[in-house]
Amino acid sequence: MKAIVKQRVEDKLYQNRYLVDPGRPHIKVLKHPYPTRNLLALTQVCPAKCYQLNDRGQVTIVSDGCLECGTCHVLCGPDGDIKWTYPQGGFGVLFKFG
Ligand code: SF4
Repeated sequence: MKAIVKQRVEDKLYQNRYLVDPGRPHIKVLKHPYPTRNLLALTQVCPAKCYQLNDRGQVTIVSDGCLECGTCHVLCGPDGDIKWTYPQGGFGVLFKFG
């Protein structure tokens, strides 16, 4: 009988690897005087917790651990609060399977 080992989401995410493109983040948060509803939502919906609300009331992103799931792109839309592209070829997330 095979034992079922439960893993937390954080443990599974830790198995991924990322090739960071230094100095060229593939997602940018556009300048905002105050965070919109969508920007605040990003701090909750991103599975990799890439978005943070800083102490100056600005939503920032560190895209190094991005899973390229597209949730933030769908939430904000093409003309929304962020500029979203895929990483350049060879960079970004490397999913570990198995
Ligand atoms: S694409 Fe997904 S993982 Fe990457 S920043 Fe957006 S919501 Fe987070």
